[in-house]
Amino acid sequence: MRRRLLLPGPRFLFWASSCCCSAFAMAQLRASSSSAASFDYLVLGGGSGGLASARRAAELGARAAVVEKGALGGTCVNVGCVPKKVMWNTAVHSEFIHDHLDYGFEIPSVAFNWRVIKEKRDAYVKRLNEIYQNNLDKARVETIHGYASFTADQEPTVEVDGKKYTAPHILVATGGQPLIPSESEIPGANLGITSDGFFELEELPKRSVIVGAGYIAVEIAGILSALGSKTSLLVRYDKVLRNFDSMISTNCTEELEHSGIEIWKHSKVRSVTKSPSGRLAVTVVSSPLSQKPTVNIIDDVDCLLWAIGREPNSKGLNLDHLDIKVDGMNHIIVDEFQNTTRKGIYALGDVCGRALLTPVAIAAGRKLAHRLFEGKEDSKLDYTNIPTVVFSHPPIGTIGLTEEEAKSTYGEKNVKTYTTSFVPMYHAVTKRKTKCVMKLVCATEQEKVVGLHMQGLGCDEMLQGFAVAVKMGATKADFDRTVAIHPTSSEELVTLR
Ligand SMILES: Cc1cc2nc3c(=O)[nH]c(=O)nc-3n(C[C@H](O)[C@H](O)[C@H](O)COP(=O)(O)OP(=O)(O)OC[C@H]3O[C@@H](n4cnc5c(N)ncnc54)[C@H](O)[C@@H]3O)c2cc1C
Repeated sequence: MRRRLLLPGPRFLFWASSCCCSAFAMAQLRASSSSAASFDYLVLGGGSGGLASARRAAELGARAAVVEKGALGGTCVNVGCVPKKVMWNTAVHSEFIHDHLDYGFEIPSVAFNWRVIKEKRDAYVKRLNEIYQNNLDKARVETIHGYASFTADQEPTVEVDGKKYTAPHILVATGGQPLIPSESEIPGANLGITSDGFFELEELPKRSVIVGAGYIAVEIAGILSALGSKTSLLVRYDKVLRNFDSMISTNCTEELEHSGIEIWKHSKVRSVTKSPSGRLAVTVVSSPLSQKPTVNIIDDVDCLLWAIGREPNSKGLNLDHLDIKVDGMNHIIVDEFQNTTRKGIYALGDVCGRALLTPVAIAAGRKLAHRLFEGKEDSKLDYTNIPTVVFSHPPIGTIGLTEEEAKSTYGEKNVKTYTTSFVPMYHAVTKRKTKCVMKLVCATEQEKVVGLHMQGLGCDEMLQGFAVAVKMGATKADFDRTVAIHPTSSEELVTLR
């Protein structure tokens, strides 16, 4: 049921000429604020969190508007989850081609054309952009194209291309962007690209160097390598994914090496230069513990990609005009209800720097809409036990506490872990092998499952169901009571001893 919200103050209709694409392009002008078009809910950022929150608010009767500076859908749709997953699927094809002979398929040789999948991927993303626009229009959410920033007006007001907008509730969901080292830190750093640039590549690079140890570095290195690019991964320590459970971190590092990726451990880029041929020379300093540093040059690189972290899109918003506090990394500080330090202004998703995942931003956005426009005062996202998948080769699925975190939370003697490591049956007949590793982290006498970590074929799709069980507070005994499904890898999780 749509519910109309009543807002105080005299108003009259105003045609917002910069708004487009919606029959609802009528914004109301508040007499109190000189020339600002007024909505019930103004959302900055048309990405995962912003779109979800605006649409839910509109369903609940609010007159909502979304300001977006780029393509609708944000990071996830345009330069994140969606195009990444298309490329991961492509890479999985490439891996399975290596197994075709073992499964009896005699295929003489298979050529890969990067442009084909890039064109199809781009067309899919474009379709999604259009679908997002249609969905906003259908929900009667106004779309305002342009860069939003707060003005110095006394009442919270946003300016886009010289026009002012205001609302009693304003959400900042402006996401983040990839970091690139400064030229003073690393001369030549700008010769590299980031994950955004990865999605612009017109050809498969022949020689790739990826810098970083987080999930984006792991995923892109895996895709490039599986598709045939000679790939090096430069990591500052000895492992990737260091904030994951140690079993995952160790196994993933091994799988990357096993798949042919050259991992440069304890290594940093010192400088980058470009040769007349256009290829890059990357000078790397490696300093293994208690050994003398060595300097090496990786030559002939046609793709240097920085995956060293992301920064929030908060700097250009003029948050200081409203005294909205940020932390040392410029993430907007919010409480558990997504309230910023300024009443009536909220923030969520990547711009807050917590659990940088699309479903997190979406869920937080919807919860907020229910609180603001349905009177559900307690509506907020529970940030515990968020399942997450890394699309490595093979994929990783993880939820809850790592073993290390569980021990520091519950005390070492109150934590018991169950682990297994095996080669999935798929590889029974293949020369190429990958491992599957699994760990249940159980705490207290009841052996409540507080962490579940796995890497192996199918673990990406396996996790969601187990996440329900963990979220419900399942114990090891509950897992044991569940009859196994044979022959699968997932059956191992209910037969661990
Ligand atoms: C390579 C990569 C792979 C990823 N893979 C996954 C995955 O597999 N699964 C997963 O769950 N998550 C994944 N993520 C993370 C996911 O994309 C983000 O967590 C999610 O998009 C965050 O949503 P958001 O709404 O906070 O921000 P975004 O989706 O980034 O949206 C913010 C929007 O605000 C706009 N904007 C910024 N500033 C302004 C301004 N001043 N005015 C107007 N508009 C503005 C931006 O243009 C953008 O459209 C991935 C990210 C990357 C980079």
